Amino acid sequence: MNFYSLNKIAPNVTFKDAVIKGLAPDKGLYFPEKIAPLSKEFLNNIENFSNAEIAYEVIKQFVADEIPEKELKKIIEETLNFDFPMVLIEENIAALELFHGPTMAFKDVGARFMARCLGYFNKEEKTAKVTVLVATSGDTGGAVASGFLGVKGVDVVILYPSGKVSNVQEKQLTTLGKNITALEVNGTFDDCQAMVKTAFLDTELIANKNLTSANSINVARWLPQMFYFFFAYKQLKNKQKNLIFSVPSGNFGNICAGLMAHKLGLPVKHFIAATNVNDIVPNYFETGIYTPKPSKQTISNAMDVGDPSNFVRILEIFENDDGKLKEVLSSYSFTDTETEQAMKEIKEKHHYIADPHGAVGYLGLKKYGIDSNTQGVFLETAHPIKFLNVVETIIKETIDLPKQIKEVINKEKVSIKISTFDELKRFLINY
Ligand SMILES: *Cc1c(COP(=O)(O)O)cnc(C)c1O
Repeated sequence: MNFYSLNKIAPNVTFKDAVIKGLAPDKGLYFPEKIAPLSKEFLNNIENFSNAEIAYEVIKQFVADEIPEKELKKIIEETLNFDFPMVLIEENIAALELFHGPTMAFKDVGARFMARCLGYFNKEEKTAKVTVLVATSGDTGGAVASGFLGVKGVDVVILYPSGKVSNVQEKQLTTLGKNITALEVNGTFDDCQAMVKTAFLDTELIANKNLTSANSINVARWLPQMFYFFFAYKQLKNKQKNLIFSVPSGNFGNICAGLMAHKLGLPVKHFIAATNVNDIVPNYFETGIYTPKPSKQTISNAMDVGDPSNFVRILEIFENDDGKLKEVLSSYSFTDTETEQAMKEIKEKHHYIADPHGAVGYLGLKKYGIDSNTQGVFLETAHPIKFLNVVETIIKETIDLPKQIKEVINKEKVSIKISTFDELKRFLINY
């Protein structure tokens, strides 16, 4: 009994069931029953641990004994087969680059971890085929497709908003084939997410298919995102400065993982959730009222979310106490014009090319204010190449294609167009 539903109606489940179900039957997100802080000794000696060892310490209490130690360590090794460098941009501001994985966005970490956990549970149980249903605002689709490609017993169905993801993102999720299918939805990300949620509640579908979700609502995608906050601390600890993280936020899974890392004892002074004009949470901070709105399209498209799923988890971390929440977290919103300006400034003054999401994170640090006793870190959540047209237009320079992108960019897109939930349902029942 490790995870409960935030809607408090559905029964508690183990890590395994939380991963397989994705969302609780009462539509609530799963949340760990207990959160035990890590030992001071571990945190004080973190520099003596490898990334994989750190990740194991961080995640083990949540997985408990449902995956044996040896298997879990193997899953972690395979998940973390790339680097997480910290690049100093200005005196007290650094970018934590999370884009060195196969699809060049931070979502590779969660997607690779989840795919391997699900693969493990499937192998053990010889359960019926699982269908992973996922809505993407851009980067999730590619990361999930790549993470699950060829995983036995798992089919992946990705819904993405037609014309609202970048060319590179679209290629990453429509060109792999095998057990991956891309559904091109005539609508927005919110429409895609709503269809996925409806699918999980459709009794006929549930009776026919073993559906699970690979959005950050799934605990196996959300929790491993804690890892790199610890890797950052390891790299900055000897500076002995107050640490502040600014996280470009859309569905608020990444920032929520940072706040969980803090709950585990990671010494961080403050967090900033930086958003584009989809400002539901910054509004909540100002007014105390959470009002979802239809998402607006921006140049940081992976954050075009009008009803961020993970915000309820953040409230739970702080026991629904706004006072406690505001001590640790601030949230600010920025326009595309401000973001473009920041990208230009970062390039011209500091010779660094930030992607539009990272630039929003940078703006968050600037707005909060970073003094000389403080080390600000913004998360560079994706490689600028993923937003080639936007980035090249703004910085007026061409960027070389990394090898991960060269591999997909000239492949042929294969997608199935749909407009309604009924079309999704028919597809799922018949394929
Ligand atoms: C998904 C994504 C985000 C937003 O992350 P959330 O966990 O949804 O808040 C930010 N930047 C990039 C590049 C992304 O792909």
